[in-house]
Amino acid sequence: MKRPLLVLLVGLLGGPWVACAAMAKPSAQDHRVKVLTAQVASDVVAWRRDFHRHPELSNREQRTAAKVVEVLRGMGITAITTGVARHGVVALISGRRGKGKTVALRGDMDALPVTEGTGLAYASKNPGVMHACGHDAHTAVLLGAASVLWTMRDAFAGTVKLVFQPAEEGAPPGEVGGAAQMIAEGVLERPKVDAIFGLHSFPSLPTGHLGSVAGVMMASVDRFSVDVRGTQTHAGYPWKGVDPVVASAHIITALQTITSRRTDVRDPAVVSVGVVKGGTRWNIIPGVVRLEGTVRTLGAAVQRKVETELRRVVAATAEAHGVTATLTYETLSPPVRNDPALYRRMLPVLRRVAGARKVATLRPVMGGEDFAHYAARVPALFFRLGMKNQAIGAIHPLHSPKFKVDEAALPLGVRAMVSLALDYLGAR
Ligand SMILES: [Zn+2]
Ligand SMILES: [Zn+2]
Repeated sequence: MKRPLLVLLVGLLGGPWVACAAMAKPSAQDHRVKVLTAQVASDVVAWRRDFHRHPELSNREQRTAAKVVEVLRGMGITAITTGVARHGVVALISGRRGKGKTVALRGDMDALPVTEGTGLAYASKNPGVMHACGHDAHTAVLLGAASVLWTMRDAFAGTVKLVFQPAEEGAPPGEVGGAAQMIAEGVLERPKVDAIFGLHSFPSLPTGHLGSVAGVMMASVDRFSVDVRGTQTHAGYPWKGVDPVVASAHIITALQTITSRRTDVRDPAVVSVGVVKGGTRWNIIPGVVRLEGTVRTLGAAVQRKVETELRRVVAATAEAHGVTATLTYETLSPPVRNDPALYRRMLPVLRRVAGARKVATLRPVMGGEDFAHYAARVPALFFRLGMKNQAIGAIHPLHSPKFKVDEAALPLGVRAMVSLALDYLGAR
């Protein structure tokens, strides 16, 4: 939250920001995008409310996907592939100026196991499921962009590939899904994607603002679990068994020494234990305790280092306490890395659509995004769509039961996606 202010100040005081700002003049094409976006804006809000009312968990986005297809067909778009990575939808819009590059625009569709607490008239009808990460808005924005680009297909060469992605929040245990699965099923091929853009709602940035950064923007996400096994016994006679509770306490503490003592502190890394499960009664030492947690880093080398250290710490601490520890370690996504050249090329576009002083340079965060899988394969740019609005209570963080999308931010999302695509394809 402090960074955008700082950037604003730098902009006001001069420096490269002012020089770039002067270059970022809206064009006739920008005007056309603005007019067409205004025409579809009420539809975008209606679609978003419909998705919000009917949220679906990861890999269960059946209704959402069907609605997406229905809306795309209603626009006249026919090149649609369904059932990609279960419920993913991929649609193509070919420009009428001939062959050219292919640019992908990605929107995610899944909701979270959160009980909604917003009190909105169009709140979730599915008990215990909520669009608490704004993916309802992302899907609606992408449909809005589809509408504008379809109308403007006389203006560009090449192809826009619309990627409606399921399971961004992670497939249920035992299932595959999300960006990695869409890639495995060929979403970046036929036609081959030259660049990809994606956005995410961001309640830390005011409505009307965008934010991004060159290079690493979000963390890698790893998940681990440890089953710590001892021997169950009476809590009054601990020496008659082997206590996994005390051993787990030592493991949890020892894990915190990885980032404070084993990795270079200049390479950000986080180890967090989010689940500790064990025991049934106060006077029984249980036989097993389960720990689950996550590792976040901003680079591949530190990611590997933390994994190596974590394996060593868990095994050695278990050994010291006479328990066995069974570790499962999964790497879910790499860091989200914006291609620096693409960022530099597209920054003027973002400044044109939002206003020169309304594009913040964000610091990387330790949250993750499976958009990282696309970014690891093709030049990519991920950016934040600001939607902090005190007046309507849009101030709560992502994944909060009170998270609110500020619908006033959606047209900017549509214009940004459309303009990035058009500029990349060299539209006139
Ligand atoms: Zn999320
Ligand atoms: Zn999200």
